[in-house]
Amino acid sequence: MAEIKTIAVIGLGLIGGSILKGLKDKGFELLGIARRKETIDQALAENIINKGSTGIELACKADLIFVCTPINKTIETINLLSSKVKPETIITDVASLKGEILDFINTIQSPVRFIGGHPMAGTENKGLDTSSENLFEEAKWVLTPSKWSNQEDLIKLSSVIEKLGAKIVITDPIQHDKAVALISHMPLFLSQSLFGMVKAYPDKDISELALTLASSGFRDMTRLATTNPELSKDMLIQNKENVVAAVKELKKYLDELEKELIENEENFEKTIEKTASQRKKMYSSEGKNVL
Ligand code: NAP
Repeated sequence: MAEIKTIAVIGLGLIGGSILKGLKDKGFELLGIARRKETIDQALAENIINKGSTGIELACKADLIFVCTPINKTIETINLLSSKVKPETIITDVASLKGEILDFINTIQSPVRFIGGHPMAGTENKGLDTSSENLFEEAKWVLTPSKWSNQEDLIKLSSVIEKLGAKIVITDPIQHDKAVALISHMPLFLSQSLFGMVKAYPDKDISELALTLASSGFRDMTRLATTNPELSKDMLIQNKENVVAAVKELKKYLDELEKELIENEENFEKTIEKTASQRKKMYSSEGKNVL
């Protein structure tokens, strides 16, 4: 099995920068491709890439390419790469949605050794400045093989990702998009809704007082409302069908909980105790998902 020696990252933002920082000093030649020259200069100055360029051609000599551009540029970038890379180059991406990308790859004319990817780690920030070497430690990293993927490529890619401290979960793109609607996109939608509802509360005096009094609970529950709007919009719109289905389920759940609160305090108490205990068991004291 030929070893991976050279790794290219296209898009040096929060995710791409964190991959490079995490792989620094791990024995790879690291190449960086960004849209703006200043980003390349910064990555060279920070010593996280060996070579950089604003042109995609530099990536084509790599054994493995991570496409970390904004989600709406991912297909375009993979398409450009597909006719230029060496036949043995493995291409992966980090986009938060997998269905549309895998549909495109599975119908592409020329074979491309693509395996879809999605690191389940991130923040509400964007850009290289906000990236960090340990962003992926103990995080799950989803891989969705395409029809061109083979077991050998999967093993090679997994071994690089594991060097970042992440744990691989292999799944199907459709299942992935339904699952992330529940745990990534709904929190974003709810965070936006909660903040928006309080701001638009019909009694303006109460709204202003509430926002003045708001402390850590409201801050934690609305943190995601500040997520990079370009990313939020892309994720919610592209995964609209699954998000709408999840919103419907949430409305049902809210109605039931409201009914219990009004009609049966004993059951309501049991429900919130059960949820509190299940939620406590899901995360370690360091905040890592133990499931
Ligand atoms: P980001 O911080 O905004 O970084 C994206 C970078 O891509 C920018 O720094 C920009 O570089 C560069 N770029 C834009 N257009 C490009 C192009 N056409 N070619 C090459 N580079 C280009 O965004 P991010 O949060 O890292 O998101 C990147 C991907 O990660 C998205 O697909 C997203 O779905 C996925 N993801 C994000 C998170 C998260 O929490 N943020 C989590 C998991 C996965 P310049 O500086 O040169 O303009």
